Amino acid sequence: MNIHTATIAGASKDLRLLEAARGGQRAVNFAETTDTAELRARVDKVAAVAAAHAKAVDAGSRFPHEAIGAARAEALMSIGVPREFGGEGAGVAEIADVCYSLGRVCASTAMIYAMHQTKVACLVRHGRASSWHRLLLRRLCAEQMLLASSTTEGQSGGDLRNSAAAVDGEQRITLDRQATVISYGEQADGIVTTARRAAEAASSDQVLIVFLKENYTLERLNGWDAFGMRGTCSEGFKLVASGLREQILPASYEKIHGHTMMPFAHIAWSSAWAGIAAAAAERARAFVRKAAHRSGGTLPPGADHLTRSTATLRTLRGLIATAIRRFEAASADPAALESVDFQTGMNLLKVNASELAVSTVLSAMQACGLSGYRNDSEFSVGRHLRDILSSPIMISNDRILANMASPSLLASIPTSLCD
Ligand SMILES: Cc1cc2nc3c(=O)[nH]c(=O)nc-3n(C[C@H](O)[C@H](O)[C@H](O)COP(=O)(O)OP(=O)(O)OC[C@H]3O[C@@H](n4cnc5c(N)ncnc54)[C@H](O)[C@@H]3O)c2cc1C
Repeated sequence: MNIHTATIAGASKDLRLLEAARGGQRAVNFAETTDTAELRARVDKVAAVAAAHAKAVDAGSRFPHEAIGAARAEALMSIGVPREFGGEGAGVAEIADVCYSLGRVCASTAMIYAMHQTKVACLVRHGRASSWHRLLLRRLCAEQMLLASSTTEGQSGGDLRNSAAAVDGEQRITLDRQATVISYGEQADGIVTTARRAAEAASSDQVLIVFLKENYTLERLNGWDAFGMRGTCSEGFKLVASGLREQILPASYEKIHGHTMMPFAHIAWSSAWAGIAAAAAERARAFVRKAAHRSGGTLPPGADHLTRSTATLRTLRGLIATAIRRFEAASADPAALESVDFQTGMNLLKVNASELAVSTVLSAMQACGLSGYRNDSEFSVGRHLRDILSSPIMISNDRILANMASPSLLASIPTSLCD
């Protein structure tokens, strides 16, 4: 089966679809064998809990503690950790699929899971040379810890490759950071943060540090009463942390960013957004079917929008499947990961996936008409629309495109269609 031919109705076969789309490829250094049927059953249990509380999470703008509690109970927080540390060695495809499944029922739960798994991937791929981080991986599996991310700082918005606050100290280190946004900062067991390497270092000379809850205090700077993604609790904090120098990951942030953080985050986020889009398209399909049934088989006028919605969803799913294949193939090859082609492709994934996801949800709403627009209808896509509108601004597409202008000058335009 090809991912482009998958229908929304077949979405429960996601793991197998992704498997097929990957052409059986397994990444060196990434995925160990995972029992996909058993994992699917656990994901389904968590998704059922997330679905039951999604409305209340959105209405209350509160952390989805039931869903994350269920994910912990099913040991989903550590599936990406290698077996030698107590995890399951799941690869990026399996994790992306969990994000997709959760996105279909609760966008906030899916995005929290996607952000957490991105931090775990950074630890797995860049922390194994350090005994402190190896120990942390074991603890993460045993305690099903939840890790948050701090990259946004002060007025610099989504400029991930520059930091203002610097690490201070020799054996013991300290950090004092104006962290404008840390999703689920209060609920997390640890925060993985970027920082300038030292007081005298350039803003782009960054490191990545893990601080555990006992290492920091958070003073709230602003709350989170947002349009969508309300359960992510993406509040702003003054983060004051201290710890040991070993808590800094051994690799430079430049390497971690290009090799793992950016590509993994973009795949995981896109998968969560694809899940939201799929859920909206599903509602549109149910609406059109019901309308057609009521009118003796005549399709309602908005049916064309359903076609558009399912078409953009297919393109989106295909885009993600291709990105997963590329990441798996390059994951153990530094030259491939650092190539202009790979970096451009993974950055564009975020831009394109967010635009396709927004289009899919908008088309779904138009297919449902007023029933989709209303909040009190079984076909409402109001929450999906509010949640998905976070996707182009979660690291602004404009910023990504502006940063890519120079590399785009270097990249050659293929002369053959199949290059
Ligand atoms: C749901 C959600 C959860 C988040 N969770 C976290 C988290 O856990 N941790 C974290 O650190 N951050 C988090 N963020 C923040 C996110 O990563 C970005 O940093 C943030 O969304 C960017 O904010 P901004 O739009 O104010 O900033 P900017 O990136 O500065 O953008 C501001 C405006 O300037 C424009 N702009 C910016 N740069 C350019 C450019 N070069 N060319 C043209 N126009 C430009 C943009 O279009 C935009 O309109 C989260 C964001 C969301 C939406």
